[in-house]
Amino acid sequence: MQTNFTETQLKDKDNQSSEKIFKKCVHCGMCNATCPTYGILGDELDGPRGRIYLIKDMLENNKKPTEKVVKHIDRCLSCYSCMTTCPAGVNYMHLIDHGKKYIEKNYERSTFDKLIRYFFIYYSSEY
Ligand code: SF4
Ligand code: SF4
Repeated sequence: MQTNFTETQLKDKDNQSSEKIFKKCVHCGMCNATCPTYGILGDELDGPRGRIYLIKDMLENNKKPTEKVVKHIDRCLSCYSCMTTCPAGVNYMHLIDHGKKYIEKNYERSTFDKLIRYFFIYYSSEY
């Protein structure tokens, strides 16, 4: 996949690693076959290939994440099943972590969303 990061953007270590990973992706979509969210929802943007495009677009263009983009990235279960079927060895784990980190920095979640996330984190640390 062709990338368009600027030299300034590539001074950031996360961008540097993500750029190398984006370049490995050949858009084949084989990863979609083992993605549970793609299997259930059938939307390209709810599969790994679509999420890779969304993350790349946000990072390269310094875009503020939209509600739509956040919805598709949030739906990723981070199960990494997609990585088992990628013939190019794309490290999706790094990309989704980078995308989620970028969203947390640049997106203002609603109070309801924040509360739900707080309770999930609180209860998952209790058990
Ligand atoms: S980590 Fe799991 S849910 Fe997320 S894109 Fe990959 S297979 Fe789909
Ligand atoms: S299987 Fe790998 S190379 Fe193909 S679209 Fe998915 S991430 Fe890209």
